[in-house]
Amino acid sequence: MKKIGYTENFAEQAALYGGLYAGRVFSQSRNLYHVMCTGGELTARVSGRFRYEASLPTDFPAVGDFVMLDRESNQDGDAVIHHVLSRKSAFIRKAAGTSNDEQIVASNIDTVFICMALNNDFNLRRLERYLAIGWDSGAVPVTVLTKSDLCDDLEQKLIEVNSVAPGSDILITSAVNRDGQEQLAQYMTGGQTVAFIGSSGVGKSTLINCLMGEERLDTNGLRNDDKGRHTTTRRELIPLKNGGMVIDTPGMRELGLESADLARTFSDIEEFAEACRFRDCTHSSEPGCAVQQAIDDGVLSADRLQSYEKLKKEARYEGLGSRQIETLKLNEMFRDAGGMKNARKFAKSKNKRKRY
Ligand code: GDP
Ligand code: ZN
Repeated sequence: MKKIGYTENFAEQAALYGGLYAGRVFSQSRNLYHVMCTGGELTARVSGRFRYEASLPTDFPAVGDFVMLDRESNQDGDAVIHHVLSRKSAFIRKAAGTSNDEQIVASNIDTVFICMALNNDFNLRRLERYLAIGWDSGAVPVTVLTKSDLCDDLEQKLIEVNSVAPGSDILITSAVNRDGQEQLAQYMTGGQTVAFIGSSGVGKSTLINCLMGEERLDTNGLRNDDKGRHTTTRRELIPLKNGGMVIDTPGMRELGLESADLARTFSDIEEFAEACRFRDCTHSSEPGCAVQQAIDDGVLSADRLQSYEKLKKEARYEGLGSRQIETLKLNEMFRDAGGMKNARKFAKSKNKRKRY
């Protein structure tokens, strides 16, 4: 179980449910979950009570989740999932704007590799956005610059990347000359779970294939059912040859930019802003604006401030920290029900769960 990321913390949580067995969801097809546990692999469904008590789609199990099951094998039919253990991180897709449309794309990821190619894909603004998504999930984002063999101004590019990714690791890889493969592998020791995001064509599959060894992505259990439909029994949580696991769900790759932890990604701007004369400075034309001063001094780029503002606007919650955004979202959500008390309780348990 350690090999599949079952840490002390999950074991402690699981110990609260006597008589049940822990397992980890590796793929899902509609209401059927495919789970690995000590007894091997099995299929499972949530209990009637679980379904009844779940209030949001995000309450249901997702790929990467640890769940508590009533049995350890399928000898007597599908297992029953009674609980989902608190997630340490989660990538969420927000479909249409209301919280009810939020879906967990993948959970319990330790490191998320933000992949960007060093040739024509190179785009700092996009990297900033992906980093924000990474921080927001609770996983640790690491920037992976791919295709180093196609780049002849690596030093310059590194300086630029450093300027938008303060405080996070940066790796340089190439599938052609095998650059950076060892550094990459270091994030996957000890049952760690990783994921790769980034634009199409930057080399994510190539990297994942390398880490997987013989078993290749494109041949990974894809098949059609008897009606010719595509069945999703494809394994989405994949064990790697040197330990650790990679989560590769279709949703993970298409992950949009709905969520963003501005404070972490733009920590440099927030730091400058602390010296602004006015607390509610918008960093546009106020006197005593330390952010504008930083731009004048050449220590902050105007581009970076612009993408910060843009992201802030897109997030609809201008000027708020992520914790505040969460509260605001809950307020909006519960406004009609008038259940602010519930909302606060929910927020508390959610925060507890998120940080555990
Ligand atoms: P994905 O869409 O991000 O999964 O990208 P792929 O892994 O499918 O790679 C897209 C294309 O880039 C393929 O043709 C790869 O052979 C190529 N590619 C991947 N990594 C490298 C690299 O390090 N150097 C070069 N020159 N090409 C690469
Ligand atoms: Zn200011």
